[in-house]
Amino acid sequence: MKSKTVLIIGGGIGGLVTANRLRQLLPRQYHIVLVEKNEQHSFAPSFLWLMTGERRPEQISRPLRQMVRPGVKIVQAQVGSVDPVNQRVTLGGSQLAYDYLVLALGAELAPEAIPGLAEAAYTFYTLEGTVKLRDALKTFGGGTIAVVVSAVPYKCPGAPHEAAMLIADLFRRKGMAEKVDVHLFTPEPQPMPVAGPALGEAVKQMLTTKGVSFHPLHKLTSVSPQSQELSFEGKEPFHYDLLAAIPPHRAPRLLKEAGLTNEAGWVPVDRATLKTRYENIYALGDVTALPIPGRWKPDVPMALPKAGVFAHAQGLVVARRLADEIKGIAAKETFCGGGYCMLEVGESLAGFASGDFFAEPAPDVQLRKLGRTWHLGKVLFEKWWLSPTGLRRRALGLALGIGSRFFKVPGSF
Ligand SMILES: Cc1cc2nc3c(=O)[nH]c(=O)nc-3n(C[C@H](O)[C@H](O)[C@H](O)COP(=O)(O)OP(=O)(O)OC[C@H]3O[C@@H](n4cnc5c(N)ncnc54)[C@H](O)[C@@H]3O)c2cc1C
Repeated sequence: MKSKTVLIIGGGIGGLVTANRLRQLLPRQYHIVLVEKNEQHSFAPSFLWLMTGERRPEQISRPLRQMVRPGVKIVQAQVGSVDPVNQRVTLGGSQLAYDYLVLALGAELAPEAIPGLAEAAYTFYTLEGTVKLRDALKTFGGGTIAVVVSAVPYKCPGAPHEAAMLIADLFRRKGMAEKVDVHLFTPEPQPMPVAGPALGEAVKQMLTTKGVSFHPLHKLTSVSPQSQELSFEGKEPFHYDLLAAIPPHRAPRLLKEAGLTNEAGWVPVDRATLKTRYENIYALGDVTALPIPGRWKPDVPMALPKAGVFAHAQGLVVARRLADEIKGIAAKETFCGGGYCMLEVGESLAGFASGDFFAEPAPDVQLRKLGRTWHLGKVLFEKWWLSPTGLRRRALGLALGIGSRFFKVPGSF
């Protein structure tokens, strides 16, 4: 059999899962190459615990090499361009050819898209940003904290709500609840609109219980670092003492230059197969635009949320499909739109939302009662994800597998 090269660009959640599963499925004569610009991998869902001081950066980061199975070639480089016609990508001065390409470049943050935001805001969306925010929260003497979703779409629909509740909980534990007001602003009409009104109402209740003031339909237009003021479209300005923002997101520009994106800059894929318009190019995770049933506004169709749980599931599907295609077997594996999310609220408690995002006429997502189990499940998942290989990983994987069957959690590990 002729050797083939599968090139995966982006070694985050989706890229890692694809590379590792593919290495299990394909004999060594097939080359699996993973291109990633960073030497270290950091687990983003743990940034919220980093923010509250419950994790240190080194506890949630690993050298990429440790995250990858033997037999996957890592190229540490920044991809500069993709040439789908000639089947190659450029890295600085060199080029890499491929037979199959997987786009797993994630979403970039663009704080500069909103005047004043980059200068004024802390963020819990990068490792470095979260460390700075943690330090600012440590010394915060009291006042108004604004957590702001500055634009849609953004990664992890639960994260801003979790961040606001965890910040409120942090100051409650310090005995400063009376001195600190936490406000959450979003352009969305309700928390996690993709999951429907009942779930949104339940999350609103959680926010209220935690003392977080929720401000929907607030579209941020600018920030004044001097007067510490947020400006919103058609709303009153708001004064803050500390600002923690989710910056606007965009897809890496090189994909647009390669003609792989839609008007909004994201990569459209077939929702079942995750194929782009090129037969030999798949895309997965945050970089994709994947339509789902339902409407965001009357004229705007809903898109699958950007979340690690989907990048992970899609990585498994892409790996299986690629392995079958390469072996000449008809590929049957499809992405079914199942997903879940543990919503941390503080006090070692979490909610659990799960469901079918492809359900008609709109996603069917249910929220289960707050509990310690969901928090422990999230901790267990973190430990499993960050355990490189070997017995510990297998034991944690087994525990997760049993737990997910017992609690009927969609997905596999
Ligand atoms: C604070 C926070 C909390 C979150 N919590 C959750 C959660 O609880 N559950 C959940 O499901 N999701 C959560 N997420 C979202 C989750 O982290 C992302 O959805 C997930 O990482 C997407 O995976 P991906 O593979 O598409 O992209 P990423 O994991 O972002 O990986 C993309 C990779 O591509 C690399 N890259 C980009 N451009 C280039 C280039 N030009 N050349 C080479 N490499 C490049 C990047 O360095 C990166 O490693 C959270 C995110 C944040 C920020």
